[in-house]
Amino acid sequence: MKIEVEKIKEEEIELTESVKVAEWNLDSFDIKFIDNIELDCKFKRVGREIMVDVCVVTHRMITCSRCLKEAKHTLKQNFTLLYNINELGNYLDLNKGIREEILLNFPMKVLCCPDCKGICNGCNANLNIEKCKCK
Ligand SMILES: [Zn+2]
Ligand SMILES: [Zn+2]
Repeated sequence: MKIEVEKIKEEEIELTESVKVAEWNLDSFDIKFIDNIELDCKFKRVGREIMVDVCVVTHRMITCSRCLKEAKHTLKQNFTLLYNINELGNYLDLNKGIREEILLNFPMKVLCCPDCKGICNGCNANLNIEKCKCK
């Protein structure tokens, strides 16, 4: 997301954008991003600073850490980015800042669903879809 610095005034303005995941190259060895990245940014000028309230929604395929099934996981993040006007050119480009936040805030443990029952250590049954066969 890019905006002309001149357009940002004390009164808040809001911009939304849908970015194709391929453009941001976010994938790592165990996380695959899918669909679009949805950006909703509110810009405001405060003195010599530009404050941006960002809301970003990303979708990814994850491997459930309990049952090892692949599942789609949607994450919504809210954060604020601050820029000093003196350090900016004519344009403010948020992509680098937003990309960093997305990569930093990935939860360590992800589940296919909040109440995933996991896999039995004894018989390897996926307890979400079958019963434990242990005696
Ligand atoms: Zn699971
Ligand atoms: Zn079992």
